[in-house]
Amino acid sequence: MKKIGLIGGMSWESSLEYYRIINETAKLKLGGLHSAECIMYSVDFEEIEALQHQNKWKELTKIMVNTAESLKKAGADFIVICTNTMHKMASDIENEVGIKVLHIAEVTGEKIIKKEMKKVGLLGTKFTMEGDFYKKVLKDKFNIDVVIPDEADRDIVHQVIYEELCKGIINEASREKYKRIIEQLASKGAEGIVLGCTEIPLLIKQEDVNIPIFDTTTIHAVSAVEFALDKVSSK
Ligand code: GLU
Repeated sequence: MKKIGLIGGMSWESSLEYYRIINETAKLKLGGLHSAECIMYSVDFEEIEALQHQNKWKELTKIMVNTAESLKKAGADFIVICTNTMHKMASDIENEVGIKVLHIAEVTGEKIIKKEMKKVGLLGTKFTMEGDFYKKVLKDKFNIDVVIPDEADRDIVHQVIYEELCKGIINEASREKYKRIIEQLASKGAEGIVLGCTEIPLLIKQEDVNIPIFDTTTIHAVSAVEFALDKVSSK
């Protein structure tokens, strides 16, 4: 099994989910007392969040590259970035560190295609919803169109992520707001909803909504084990 290098701590609330799902998947696939060989470098999110909101993406890229470098030195065979937002610098990591990054939007796109959907709604941080780095992967690699909430609702989604979910706060009123926003994306033609922030699945479960959801945390974590076990796939 390849060693999985996890960049975690963004936030640790969802990194915990990655660790649990990765090991549960290894147990399910391999049986016995098997667990996944993995190394996690968990960063201090206070520092990361401040730089994100100051738009200091160069500094953030440096941090991500150095973190991936440390994981490579520790023996990681490939990198799993445990956040959608920080995939903004996925290709910088691959190019500068020379290590494969298992891209969260790519593994999610594969699931969307399997369901034969052509248009999905995207919820995540404003960086993920408004930027190009995530939607472009879905469009260019899978020809999937993406709809996002209007500006006021993007603010709500973003605020709930940083002020509640990343602090471990699960608020019923926020769940209701998300449900309303999801319904609106469905009315704009979304056939499914990408929970494109690794903490959103802590708040929204499939049973909360009528439309199919794509839980990127679970999809990414399960794919990491599948990739680690796949002897033929290249680095
Ligand atoms: N975990 C979140 C995501 O998947 C947000 C935290 C971050 O900014 O990295 O995008």
